[in-house]
Amino acid sequence: MSDRWIEVGDRVWARRLKELDQTLGLVVADECALVIDTGTTAEAGFAYATAIRELTNLPWQVAYTHDHFDHWFGTAAFGESAVWAVADGAHYVAFGDEQRKAWVAKYRLDGREEDARKMAASRLVPPNCRVQGAIGLNLGGRTVVLRQVGLAHSDNDMVVEVPDAGVLFAGDLLEQGAPPSYTAAYPIEWPQAVEFLLSWKPKVVVPGHGEPGDYWWARAQARDLAEVSRLCTEVAQGFLTEDEAAEHGPFGPDSMREAIARWKELTPPAPEPAPRPASAATPPPPVVVYEVFDYQVDMTR
Ligand SMILES: [Zn+2]
Repeated sequence: MSDRWIEVGDRVWARRLKELDQTLGLVVADECALVIDTGTTAEAGFAYATAIRELTNLPWQVAYTHDHFDHWFGTAAFGESAVWAVADGAHYVAFGDEQRKAWVAKYRLDGREEDARKMAASRLVPPNCRVQGAIGLNLGGRTVVLRQVGLAHSDNDMVVEVPDAGVLFAGDLLEQGAPPSYTAAYPIEWPQAVEFLLSWKPKVVVPGHGEPGDYWWARAQARDLAEVSRLCTEVAQGFLTEDEAAEHGPFGPDSMREAIARWKELTPPAPEPAPRPASAATPPPPVVVYEVFDYQVDMTR
């Protein structure tokens, strides 16, 4: 498969990429375009920017759905523009640098020298406009909503809603063709977040990886995310073993184990109270006998 556009609504596109089966987004209005995520490297971002220029010559703004490298390492190609995200620039720079080092090392280890070079050469562009809660972004004749999600696939997810076209860009809150990633996720909170986001019943839902789907597809995935949450809870309560949960996880055993591991990381077990040595037993409190106090004071004296 080569990279291609899918028109998912009036002047709204999803860009399907071969790399990581990723899906980026584009919303075009009368005065400005909004680019949703920019790809894995500066080179991928440059290819994306070139593809966008085949559709529109309008100035662009950029929105990051979250801080995972594949969603924002391509931004250098977009020059000076407004870049919207939930987490701040300092976080993006620090976490981005960490991810870049880790991926360069991983690619080298896998003998993918060219990929390592592209990753190392990608200049990181932190966001410069922060989204807290939700904002309506007027692109000229069309307003999109940038919405902070709360805890879900990560702790800084943001979705883009295009109400006039009935399209929701969901970032990695939903995935098609592969299980959702739990490595930095909040398994218990995630399904509720998706259910809330689907409450306006968008016609088209664009995932961060895989093909766009409809409302009912997204709703089915929300149900599966809820089942993962429930299985994690039942393991915690001792109703199920981890093996049982893994066997019945809706996204397969590996994904279920990843969710349980992440859940454990987020909720470390309460430390056992240390047994008290017999010799150090606390002596009983002393009995204090207070002197009787005479309240009958003769004020006439
Ligand atoms: Zn992600």
